[in-house]
Amino acid sequence: METPLTGNIRPDREPPDLPEYERAGGYRALRKALLSMTPWKVVEEVRSSMLRGRGGAGFPTGMKWTFVPKGPDAPRPKYLVCNADEMEPGTFKDRLLMEGDPHQLIEGMIVSAYAIEADVAWLFLRVEYALSAGRLAKAIAEAYGKGYLGKDILGSGYSLELYLHTSAGRYMCGEESGLLNSLEGKRATPRAKPPFPAVCGLWGKPTVINNVETLCNVPHIVNRGADWFKGLSRTGDSGTKLYGVSGRVRRPGISELPMGTTIREILESAGGMQEGYRLRAVIPGGASTEFVPAEHQDMPMDFDSLQAVGSRMGTGTMIVLDDRTCPVAMLRNLEQFFARESCGWCTPCRDGLPWVEKLLDAVEVGRGEPEDLELLAMHAKFLGPGLTFCALAPGAMEPLRSGLSLFRDDFLRHIREKRCPWR
Ligand code: SF4
Repeated sequence: METPLTGNIRPDREPPDLPEYERAGGYRALRKALLSMTPWKVVEEVRSSMLRGRGGAGFPTGMKWTFVPKGPDAPRPKYLVCNADEMEPGTFKDRLLMEGDPHQLIEGMIVSAYAIEADVAWLFLRVEYALSAGRLAKAIAEAYGKGYLGKDILGSGYSLELYLHTSAGRYMCGEESGLLNSLEGKRATPRAKPPFPAVCGLWGKPTVINNVETLCNVPHIVNRGADWFKGLSRTGDSGTKLYGVSGRVRRPGISELPMGTTIREILESAGGMQEGYRLRAVIPGGASTEFVPAEHQDMPMDFDSLQAVGSRMGTGTMIVLDDRTCPVAMLRNLEQFFARESCGWCTPCRDGLPWVEKLLDAVEVGRGEPEDLELLAMHAKFLGPGLTFCALAPGAMEPLRSGLSLFRDDFLRHIREKRCPWR
């Protein structure tokens, strides 16, 4: 089984330096793209590979690139931004790539920037990822030293400046339009769309924002072609995927597996459930996706299959709920996070999420009333898609909505017995 994204990552996660990365075939895609392909040809190759964004939304990457104005009359400068502000509970996959193989990401960024004819690239990194920051800064300096960044890269006539920027440490800095505001030095509140960033992004100029894992796929697609990339997958969604598992499994962590690997196999790659624990459900794609019950374990983890059972692939990093953990407490923890990270821009989210947190808190400790379940269901509805300015609140409601229905008996037991049955 091929693992292009993690092939260079060592067990101790010490990253390869530039000469080691080059010996393993690194920067070959950069040479190929800049010296023998037009930017449009790179876009076409990525479009035919059917690479879908790995940051959560799953939008086709090549198609996103086609929205950027091209040609001599296009507004300048154009920007590429790597969204490395990974912060959702349960999601830690991009960190592995940045710590373990920083040059892969930098090469992916340069090739992608060339494809959209960007003049400047920003690597927008979560501030808490200090180890990633140090390793990326070193790799960027090495790339400048070798002429892979800066003026007239490899004598191709193409120039690119790449900057590392650390975030202000809030979840909304990872929401793509909040990220743009943050980069411009403003408060990280989201922007209204349209206009979309591809035509009016950073400082009003065309900007593409891609996730770390997405960009790391690009050099491999350029090197080995779209058909090879499609062949890595087991289902219609192409490539491999960094699947993560956290919770009561034997070896929590990240595994690179073919896209479309089943939930059961992903759990097996994490060593299976710990002794004495049984799987009840998983939140498949980071904290803002709907629970998938254990009976769907043999379902492929890909964008379309999860959508068919009412959930989402999200970041592909699952949180496991076992039979000895209180589902109400788990939901309270998640909603506490989202309530804390609400930017406060719109009323339903600013006021609704703390209310949800308080209700869950009361139910969990045995102070809940039967009507609290109706109030929670009302919030799940009124903070749903299209009713708030950005997707934070609707995302926060996904685990709640599915949890209220899947674990209704657990909620009722808390209310009836006036205590948490798991304590
Ligand atoms: S939904 Fe929440 S996070 Fe998003 S804009 Fe409204 S208040 Fe801010």
